[in-house]
Amino acid sequence: MFRLDGKVAIVTGGSRGIGRACAEALAAQGAHVVVNYVKGEAAAKEVAEGIVARGGKAEIAAFDVGDTPATEKAIDEIAKRLGRLDIFVANAGIAIDGLLLRVKEEDIDRQLNVNVKGAIACAKASTKVMMRAKVGRIIFVSSVIGEMGNVGQTAYAATKAALLGITKSVAREFASRNITVNAITPGFIETDMTHGMNDAMKEQILKAIPLGRIGGAKDVASACVYLASDEAAYMTGQVLRVNGGMYV
Ligand code: NAD
Repeated sequence: MFRLDGKVAIVTGGSRGIGRACAEALAAQGAHVVVNYVKGEAAAKEVAEGIVARGGKAEIAAFDVGDTPATEKAIDEIAKRLGRLDIFVANAGIAIDGLLLRVKEEDIDRQLNVNVKGAIACAKASTKVMMRAKVGRIIFVSSVIGEMGNVGQTAYAATKAALLGITKSVAREFASRNITVNAITPGFIETDMTHGMNDAMKEQILKAIPLGRIGGAKDVASACVYLASDEAAYMTGQVLRVNGGMYV
């Protein structure tokens, strides 16, 4: 079950954290994975080389999802070169925290540009390829914060809630083409994005997680593999929560 042999997957922001875990998990199931990065070329190479060393198929691709023309061009080129595109994981995202009264307009714009516009550009370019093949899987990495909100994360929460609207809209638009579109809403996951939190903050968060532990990137990657698989063929427009019970 959940094998992905012969399929091509692109994972944005795949050089570290949740994206890296998704890339590695998809490759472990047999997919040829394209690890997208914007800055960390060395880290992306390390991920791809690790996959290849374990007998899998992987390569890297630089593009900034905040740059719509560059993103669409890169996805189109990858699909042409590899002859197909079966799975797209729109994972790239940024969080710039700040209390509402101090939030800067440029920081709102940056988050909207990468997290929302970037995701739409990825969906547009990948559905174009997938609709010709009449099959495809798109997975958006949203966040529990988009569902429940958080102090100091108004703009980030807005972008992650937007992804849920995007998921449901694209799912409806492409269901007739056999392209399924779903979102994952991770809870609190130990990655570079959350490393900056001090122990007191982490302790506070732990109290709100019924399963009593902070999540790992692999917890999210398992959900990603499921949604990418043939076994999830009847799932579309759904939000899969991977949050330890933090929000139910
Ligand atoms: P991370 O910061 O480690 O990884 C984010 C990745 O996105 C990085 O590789 C980064 O280079 C890439 N990226 C950023 N801007 C990009 C751009 N313009 N173009 C291409 N790539 C870009 O964070 P993470 O925790 O692994 O987060 C991955 C995703 O999961 C994000 O969308 C984040 O919002 C979401 N998420 C994280 C958590 C958490 O607790 N860590 C919880 C819920 C949702």
